[in-house]
Amino acid sequence: MKITDLKIYPTWVGARNQLIIKIETDGGVHGWGESGLSGRELAVAGALQHYREILIGQDPMNIGYIWQLLYRSQYFEGGRVLTAAQSAIDIALHDIKGKALGVPIWQLLGGKQRDVVPTFVTIQLGAGMVQQAKRFMKKGWNVIRTGMNAGYSEPAGRKAKTGGRKMKDGDVFEPIESLAATAVQLTELRDALGPAVLLGTDFHHRLSVAEAAHFCQRMPKGTLDFLEEPIRDETPEAYEQLRRMTDVPFAIGEEFSSKWQFLPYIERGITNYARLDICNVGGFTESMKVAGMCEAHYIDLMPHNPLGPICTMATIHLAAAVPNFSHLEVWVREDGTLGHFDPAIFSHQPQLEGAAFPVPTAPGLGVEFNEDYAKAHAFKFWEAPKLYRKDGSVQNW
Ligand SMILES: [Mg+2]
Repeated sequence: MKITDLKIYPTWVGARNQLIIKIETDGGVHGWGESGLSGRELAVAGALQHYREILIGQDPMNIGYIWQLLYRSQYFEGGRVLTAAQSAIDIALHDIKGKALGVPIWQLLGGKQRDVVPTFVTIQLGAGMVQQAKRFMKKGWNVIRTGMNAGYSEPAGRKAKTGGRKMKDGDVFEPIESLAATAVQLTELRDALGPAVLLGTDFHHRLSVAEAAHFCQRMPKGTLDFLEEPIRDETPEAYEQLRRMTDVPFAIGEEFSSKWQFLPYIERGITNYARLDICNVGGFTESMKVAGMCEAHYIDLMPHNPLGPICTMATIHLAAAVPNFSHLEVWVREDGTLGHFDPAIFSHQPQLEGAAFPVPTAPGLGVEFNEDYAKAHAFKFWEAPKLYRKDGSVQNW
């Protein structure tokens, strides 16, 4: 079997873009993949155009060889753009191989180690948070993650004018106000929910080391079970410093683009839940290696899953096949429907049974993408919200 084409679909899916790819073969099967570098789809599409020239004529069954060829055939190895492209390709190749052999992808990864894939749910802090958390707990969830409190206390509608820029209310993020309000609300939440539920919170790497330490110190011990991305990840030593200032477990890794980027976080005991993203780290091939490194250090995967059905389904296959798995991120609404799914775009959405996904049985990935939709809904320029402090300086989103 030979690869005959790589088709690249940066597609507007309603509120943002998704970058979907199709690998075609002369063997009567094709594969779908998705890139995880949200907001920079055109950069990844450019990388994919280069890779298309290398892929055509290759045997799609040689997945590990193709991974090495793509990663190492250029002088400038790795990086988030290139491995996001490689991730999409690697997922599509696994889809092809599963279809060709008539087995679900988890069979290619050593078989299944669990019957269902547990998930965690996300709620927002504020009025109604306790009731919402309790409703999810009643439906079976025992891990709940919260966003942070925005912490902006200006009266609604008032325009802050600072730093020469006019800013809207939602554009301002003040770390000290946010961490203080978030700590108060998490303490209330823990008091109301009791000790049985795992409670985590995500700061979207918006804090400094000191601010992250302040946040942890403002809550009674036992309030928070995991802290996701309090600071940025370029410097593992900064996380090591923060580790010495708090004993709250960290959940880090959704932006990592290789096993080498995970390595210091695993070996130095910095991440305690690996927030691996299969659409960024390098697909199934690289995810299984990261999972193995984590297993050796007794760290469970808690995968990042913010995209659509391809990312979700790929992560379910991965989760089924690894021994060290905690919970999969899922965006579920109160009515039980899942976010980021439009049946006009994708043929199939994995369905939750309670708080877990059943392990899929269809050959390959188990999702098909509507190419006609993509052709009619081309990429639209979209940027993530830009945040500023009140003094006008730039703040991470
Ligand atoms: Mg996150």
